[in-house]
Amino acid sequence: MQKIWILFFFTFIIVGCSKTNNQENNINTLIEEDKNILIGINYPITGFNTLDRLIESEVEKIYNDFKEEYESFSTLNEKSELNIDYTYELINENYINICINVFINSSVLDNPNNYMITYIYDISQKKIITLKDIIKEEQLEEFTSLVTSKIISKYNTCVLLDNLKKEINAEYKSYPLFNFDDENIYIYFNPNIVTASYCDIVYISIPLSSFDLKIVLKKENKIVSKEELITKVKVLDPNKKVIALTFDDGPSNYTSKIIDYLNEQESVATFFVLGNKVAIYDKTMKKMIAYGNEIGNHSYNHKWLTKVKEEELLLQIDKTQSIIYEMTNYKPITFRPTYGSLNKKMKENINLDIVLWNIDTMDWKYKSVDKIVTRATKNVKDGDIILMHDTYERTYKAILKIVPILKEKGFQLVTVSELKEINFLRNQLKPEAS
Ligand code: ZN
Repeated sequence: MQKIWILFFFTFIIVGCSKTNNQENNINTLIEEDKNILIGINYPITGFNTLDRLIESEVEKIYNDFKEEYESFSTLNEKSELNIDYTYELINENYINICINVFINSSVLDNPNNYMITYIYDISQKKIITLKDIIKEEQLEEFTSLVTSKIISKYNTCVLLDNLKKEINAEYKSYPLFNFDDENIYIYFNPNIVTASYCDIVYISIPLSSFDLKIVLKKENKIVSKEELITKVKVLDPNKKVIALTFDDGPSNYTSKIIDYLNEQESVATFFVLGNKVAIYDKTMKKMIAYGNEIGNHSYNHKWLTKVKEEELLLQIDKTQSIIYEMTNYKPITFRPTYGSLNKKMKENINLDIVLWNIDTMDWKYKSVDKIVTRATKNVKDGDIILMHDTYERTYKAILKIVPILKEKGFQLVTVSELKEINFLRNQLKPEAS
């Protein structure tokens, strides 16, 4: 599987932590589209071997199982989807909390299969920790009765009491899914374990102060600083040909280099980013804006959006809008649907300009830089929108050739919103029909 994964290296900076705690971190991304399947995967590589090996082998297993099961379902009229996403959190400068969220949907399933896996890594002890490392044995009974009563009261509409009795006992193994911050411990159960499946993944929180813990957690004060951004002012020439380069699925560690090069070439592009990558690449995002590029919304974790309920659709959009705004003070006004697939529900509910493309470089498929360059430059015309992905090194290399060729052909490289603005200007400037 190594061959197909793209490895992105970047530095993860925890805002508000001391300098010594900057975490070297990587992210693995895989977006795959085939006749019968759609796959969108993001998972972290933390640099801590034990943790990374565990996560990678789990993800690999899920990926292989999914392909084995669904790849050959050519009789289905709809594609099957696998989406893996994660959250990463550093607690108390020592504990890494990772939740891996797995989502599988297919028309052969009655309901989508949605579940999570949690990992907590203790950096100073160099080990994965379980509940046994936190809650003392003599307090397990009390802990269990608290968990049980909280589940019953929070999920009274879907709790399965018989399962609850069977699954939750005063034993550590009853709690395979948990994490904590400096205030609470969170206990999770996947659908169908203690609650009916329509309640999805359930969780309850228990204040850490209720127990005399085996570990010491002190409260941190997090300070989030927001830099003021000065965006370059640009003059658009409505009489000159325009073209819009667009990049999906990023940011990645190639994005910053692409932005620098575009800036050198006095050019800009539009980056349709995934919300779950924004916090990690906040410096890249800020530079993107400062250099006059446009940021568009490409969902939170690349779910196949024509398949999700309205609530999930809005969450995918809104969560991405908020995180971008929170990190950069920038509000995207454009949206690009994942896998380019769009339906009526999306058109009605998405309050952003929906932007597709008319030239696909197929950079996700073609390994050859020259082939990508040819596709992006050969049959281009005024007003075209070109699709690329800033998640590949070959795309960065191709950009170094594409930009000079397009400029040589007389194009100004603009963002998708500028493209729209130019069209508006041209209409305004049209000589009145006599
Ligand atoms: Zn995409």
